[in-house]
Amino acid sequence: MAVSFFEIHDPVFGQYVMGNAPVKQLATGFDWVEGPVWFGDAGCLLFSDIPNNRILRWTPDDGVTTYRAPSNYSNGHTRDKAGRLVSCEHGARRVTRTELDGAVTVIADSFDNKPLNSPNDVIVKSDGSIWFSDPHYGIMTNYEGFASPQENPCVVYRVDPETGDMSVVVDDMNCPNGLAFSPDEKLLYVADTGRMFSDDAQHIRVYDVEDDAVCNGRHFHTIDPGIADGIRVDTDGNLWSSAADGVHCISPEGRLLGKILVPELVSNICFGGRAKHQLFITATTSVYRVTLNRSGVQFP
Ligand code: MG
Repeated sequence: MAVSFFEIHDPVFGQYVMGNAPVKQLATGFDWVEGPVWFGDAGCLLFSDIPNNRILRWTPDDGVTTYRAPSNYSNGHTRDKAGRLVSCEHGARRVTRTELDGAVTVIADSFDNKPLNSPNDVIVKSDGSIWFSDPHYGIMTNYEGFASPQENPCVVYRVDPETGDMSVVVDDMNCPNGLAFSPDEKLLYVADTGRMFSDDAQHIRVYDVEDDAVCNGRHFHTIDPGIADGIRVDTDGNLWSSAADGVHCISPEGRLLGKILVPELVSNICFGGRAKHQLFITATTSVYRVTLNRSGVQFP
């Protein structure tokens, strides 16, 4: 019997997926993978295996090799406009940038003279500003970092590209996690995983972006089953989100269009490939890839 990799909830989703493009497991055997980021120039995917304190590299020819170990229990990654890797590190409780010569620059490690919690996910705006979430997951136990007291609230910060100044941009969520801008950068989506240990529903909120801040925060969508952890946007403004049963595609109006079914709980996603038309999926112990008839917003 043929296996369907997709669940279509709105006819438009049928145009985004291809029946003969499988959800393919690229690699497995990890503990908890996160933070996928595509390097088209190197033809590789980087991702974090958080509990094993390493960043791994996958290429079609060589499979999985080690990119960085130890990684300070790194979690989410992205690239800035210059192509440099920007990383959230649970263990060092900081956000760093890996320069083109390999040097590591600290972008943020404290706020209000107190250490950050455990930066989780990060995006870079076209003006170079760095926006990251700082929930407490990496300091709750010794599994994904070092158990430590929480000294700052769980918020989203913005780091100014010119001055390096930090400001709190989102402070009305339980545990902000994945982040994404709309294609025109007028909207900021933030996933809240704060209630993951209770029966309350999870939600994604959306904010209007006004210069260096956001306003008018409102409910956008509730993922079911599971939670929205990592999120990304395609060129039409659809939001793609991790979920317990795969990846959900949500319209700009907040309506579920369809699902990519993945056999493990999904943590995060990124677009990549020649036309940014492939979705790389980190899911518990494995990394998967599916080719879409759709391109993601991702630079460079
Ligand atoms: Mg996350």
